[in-house]
Amino acid sequence: MNEFGLIRSFFAHQPVQRADVATGIGDDAAVLDLPPGCQLVVSTDMLVAGVHFLPGTEAQAVGYKALAVNLSDLAAMGADPAWFTLNLSLPAADEVWLRGFCEGLFGLAGRYGLQLVGGDTTRGPLTVGIQIAGYVPSGQALLRSGARPGDGVYVTGQLGDAALGLMCLQGQLQLADSDRVRVIQRLERPVPRVREGQALRGLASACIDVSDGLAADLGHVLDASGAGARVELAALPLSPVYQGVHGRTGWDPAVAGGDDYELCFTVPPRHEPAVVERMRPFGGVRRIGVVESAPGLRLRDPSGAEYRPQADGFDHFRSP
Ligand code: ADP
Ligand code: MG
Repeated sequence: MNEFGLIRSFFAHQPVQRADVATGIGDDAAVLDLPPGCQLVVSTDMLVAGVHFLPGTEAQAVGYKALAVNLSDLAAMGADPAWFTLNLSLPAADEVWLRGFCEGLFGLAGRYGLQLVGGDTTRGPLTVGIQIAGYVPSGQALLRSGARPGDGVYVTGQLGDAALGLMCLQGQLQLADSDRVRVIQRLERPVPRVREGQALRGLASACIDVSDGLAADLGHVLDASGAGARVELAALPLSPVYQGVHGRTGWDPAVAGGDDYELCFTVPPRHEPAVVERMRPFGGVRRIGVVESAPGLRLRDPSGAEYRPQADGFDHFRSP
């Protein structure tokens, strides 16, 4: 199959057809209508085989996750996702692999009404780059820079299961089969918190998605906001599986593990009741700490002692 046959067979026809796509795949660029009174929100994220996923990861999981991590970035901005482009580098035009990849990719795209509007396809090491775009009402994007002393610090969902999943795949943790399946699912099929992010518009003072670990990502919010925070480890939302292995793994998977794709956000006291109310349909949120004026993140364990994670957040270019 040649390049154009491949694009035609796998990417030209797709489930979602949005009315705001004036021109999609097939021209030199896409032409898109932005709703009046909105700002464009754009992000991109790349998955490289051997770096972001283990070689041999099933194609469906790669297609799903490549889009999920991008959706998570728009979720963290409180945006409505609408369109994406796909840069694909493939070692070979493997049709079985491509079919699985498209199943994972378009399955998730369909759930959020996202349309693929262009891309680029080349031969090379397996790499999936997605650029995603969406919009927010002007001035309402959730930024990292708005946290103020006294604001509550919150997270959605549960932390650390994805890191436990990675430990299972790497042979560092043994779990019962059903638990193992569950945490690997959390690693390979994160659910982007898109509706939660939208619900936080007008209420949260800052927001980020937890991709590199809570300490690292909350640290980015605090740096951007010129503030610090205190977080109570006892308040971290941990799954039953995590609670069962906590004695073996400690706090690090929840504090420094990556790939959870939950939202971490701050809320001024006057908005806290409304946030709790608005997040109830999504399974609720957990208040884990408070923003303080002294810079730095202070983690307190249940005994009241300060806790320092053994690992930092993931950094591709960290010096050895
Ligand atoms: P150009 O030479 O202008 O870069 P291409 O031949 O690379 O165009 O692509 C032809 C059309 O197919 C373009 O509209 C491009 O956006 C689209 N396309 C190419 N690869 C992909 C892909 N992996 N996913 C979606 N659309 C793609
Ligand atoms: Mg091209």
